[in-house]
Amino acid sequence: MLYRRRKKRKQITIMTDFMTPKQRSQTMSKVRGYNTKPEKLIRSHLHRQGFRFRINSPNLPGKPDIVLKKYNAIIFVHGCFWHHHKGCKKSNLPDTRNEFWKNKISGTVMRDQRNISDLTKQGWRIAIVWECGTQKKDDLENIIKELSEWIIEGQSKKIELSGR
Ligand SMILES: [Zn+2]
Repeated sequence: MLYRRRKKRKQITIMTDFMTPKQRSQTMSKVRGYNTKPEKLIRSHLHRQGFRFRINSPNLPGKPDIVLKKYNAIIFVHGCFWHHHKGCKKSNLPDTRNEFWKNKISGTVMRDQRNISDLTKQGWRIAIVWECGTQKKDDLENIIKELSEWIIEGQSKKIELSGR
């Protein structure tokens, strides 16, 4: 019995060792929520438009994904499930362990609201880009266009952009 258990554990260890550095970093980025695909898309498009920015600024509330200091603008790229995009079908909670997910997600939503209110008080303008807006080419192009205009000359303190 003991032997079998030990053998099992060994197999698992070997399997993790077979992950390439790229696979490992992909797994890690899923866990931490950094450098997810939608974020990378928005960053590379903005970069191509000539915008320069800092990423995951550790000294600001919520470690914003994109910080454009020159324009006093901050962009969060939010996953529709984890940050609960209201009315979006990607935000539906699973039926199993429903209470667990409800608590977890509502914790994230409350943290997001607090971070955004703190950043607004510090004088930042905030854009939230929802993941569902980054998956179709047309949506993404529209979002980048609206985002660029908002960054440069937008009057609103807070905007949200998503797929339609
Ligand atoms: Zn969504």
